[in-house]
Amino acid sequence: MSTTVITGIGELVTNDPAREGLLGLVADAAVVVEGTRIAWVGPTADAPAADVRVDAGGRAIIPGFVDSHSHLVFAGDRSAEFEARMTGEPYTAGGIRTTVAATRAASDEQLLSHVGRLVAEMRSQGTTTVEIKSGYGLSVLDEARSLAVAAQFTDETTFLGAHVVPAGTTPEDYVDLVTGPMLAAAAPHARWIDVFCEDGAFDVDQARAILTAGSDSGLRGRLHANQLTYGGGVRLACELGLVAVDHCTYLSDLDVESLSDSGTIATLLPGVEFSTRQPYPDARRLLDAGVRIALASDCNPGSCFTSSMALCLALAVREMRMTPAEALHAATAMGAAALARDDVGVVAPGKAADLVLLDAPSYLHLAYRPGVPLVAGVWQGGRPVLGTPTLG
Ligand SMILES: [Zn+2]
Repeated sequence: MSTTVITGIGELVTNDPAREGLLGLVADAAVVVEGTRIAWVGPTADAPAADVRVDAGGRAIIPGFVDSHSHLVFAGDRSAEFEARMTGEPYTAGGIRTTVAATRAASDEQLLSHVGRLVAEMRSQGTTTVEIKSGYGLSVLDEARSLAVAAQFTDETTFLGAHVVPAGTTPEDYVDLVTGPMLAAAAPHARWIDVFCEDGAFDVDQARAILTAGSDSGLRGRLHANQLTYGGGVRLACELGLVAVDHCTYLSDLDVESLSDSGTIATLLPGVEFSTRQPYPDARRLLDAGVRIALASDCNPGSCFTSSMALCLALAVREMRMTPAEALHAATAMGAAALARDDVGVVAPGKAADLVLLDAPSYLHLAYRPGVPLVAGVWQGGRPVLGTPTLG
């Protein structure tokens, strides 16, 4: 198996709990990649020989971003709705139906090519693991084919038939469909099941029924909750022992206590608040209560059409008072935890060789230089997928 040694890494973020500090930083570091995995991590001075040698020239390397929340399978364009929102109209869950019509009308080939383009866009910005949800099909056929498309690009596929109740059906009938024939068609293509638990979408009892049915079909649950209003979604996620509950913008003291007690990860999606001019979640309150936080993009055509984890990280630092270290950890190691993955988000022997070379001496530049394209090279599963990493 071919080996590559990357030397001269000015600052290596490992997220390895065996090393010091939250990020397990190593200065003047080297990493050996063997096949798809990391084989060795340590100081450049001690680096073993390898088939290929790459010199990072003092630049920083971080683990690839793990984006644990995205809605990439869709067609159509909602920039006009964004414009309307920016001129004063509020965001509501109903806009999802616009995308549903366009997605149903698109061919499989169109959906595949669109998702492929977005995944490539993410990769070029350092995202090496992405979760992709369905949720713009809302029929048995269209949800199943949305998931089949998503599965071409990731193992982390999520059935979100319960995104919104489509036109022409009642909530009761639709929940029956989601928990019955739609789940049966979706389950072979999905690892997760999700529900948009919110006013205008699904209530707590409906969410419980859908998550329970999903679990009975072998899908693990995750939940959109407490994005637009206070409600019981976060507590339901904690009660059911879900790995992650996403948004968590409007939280009562009881919600925070439940998160802290249950260990369910709160996935914060600050790109949404940025793109909808809503108040940001209170990350400091959660961290102070011992709640584990992940950051993700929520890349979707309605409420947040960014694929940039670096932007989310910068927002988390600037607007949510997370430290740069907490934000990067949340966008990598905690993103992995939110997907119940221990093979990504960490740079240590045996882990996936998902590495991002920054055109910067330190990870701090991700938040310090918002909006600047700092990703100079990407290895995904040991394979160089961006940049010219064999020069050195
Ligand atoms: Zn979402």
